[in-house]
Amino acid sequence: MDLGLRGRVAVVTGGSSGIGLATARVLLEEGMAVAICARNPQRLEQARQALSACGDVLAYPCDILDTAAVAGLLAAVSDWQGRCDLLVNNAGQGRVSTFADTTDAAWEEELKLKFFSQINTTRAFAPMLAGSGQGAIVAVNSLLAYQPEAHMVCTSAARAGVQNLLKSLAGEFAPAIRVNSVVVGLIESGQWERRFQAREDRALSHEQWLADLAHSKKIPLGRLGLPQEVARAIAFLGSPAASFVTGTQIEVSGGLSRHI
Ligand code: NDP
Repeated sequence: MDLGLRGRVAVVTGGSSGIGLATARVLLEEGMAVAICARNPQRLEQARQALSACGDVLAYPCDILDTAAVAGLLAAVSDWQGRCDLLVNNAGQGRVSTFADTTDAAWEEELKLKFFSQINTTRAFAPMLAGSGQGAIVAVNSLLAYQPEAHMVCTSAARAGVQNLLKSLAGEFAPAIRVNSVVVGLIESGQWERRFQAREDRALSHEQWLADLAHSKKIPLGRLGLPQEVARAIAFLGSPAASFVTGTQIEVSGGLSRHI
């Protein structure tokens, strides 16, 4: 199947690592020009170098919670390609804390990250996406939106709110821009690498640690997902091949959800 992405332009937030990096690679392989952003300029430059063999890449250091920086990203993309057909709102991370140990400041920080990582870039790029003729937004969200976990209380609540926001955006932006999401389970990425590095049992190998994690979480497919397995779902939802799909989500979790 031809996704119809060749010659189009994508912006991927959090494109220096994990799901964002894999998404940038898949979109480049599909023939798109891809702009990536992240806060750490060294890691971003490493990603740009790794991706540049696959196609035309722009790397722009940017904290997506900083509206001035997002305006800079928009200007850079405008100067570079003069258009944007796909926005992938991926940047972010989860917060591990129960209700008892989540302070008001932590709630505010988490709600701000989850909502404004969607709002700031969407507001900036919506006019360009609307001018595309095939504009699409794909948000990377978590299964926690539907299946909250007590040990990630504020991330779960914020994720559910984001799904609600995306549904409203899909209505408001139709028919000019389609808005969808991927809801992911446990995906091998920078986040899990950091938790592996902080593991209590230092004797555990990476492989064994991941296998134990998959077992303890009872993932039906028996392992964590790979970033490229999420990237392929993002590419589909963001492509003209999904031209009648909006306001919905694809779950990429290895069967972890319990709801129908
Ligand atoms: P990684 O840590 O590997 O990648 C996160 C990326 O986001 C990095 O490029 C990071 O770069 C960037 N980033 C984080 N905060 C900002 C910011 N404020 N502005 C710009 N860039 C930012 O994690 P994943 O690939 O796993 O995460 C991608 C998304 O998937 C996240 O939203 C995450 O919460 C979500 N997710 C992942 C799950 C998993 O199991 N992996 C599960 C559920 C959801 P830098 O730090 O340099 O800014």
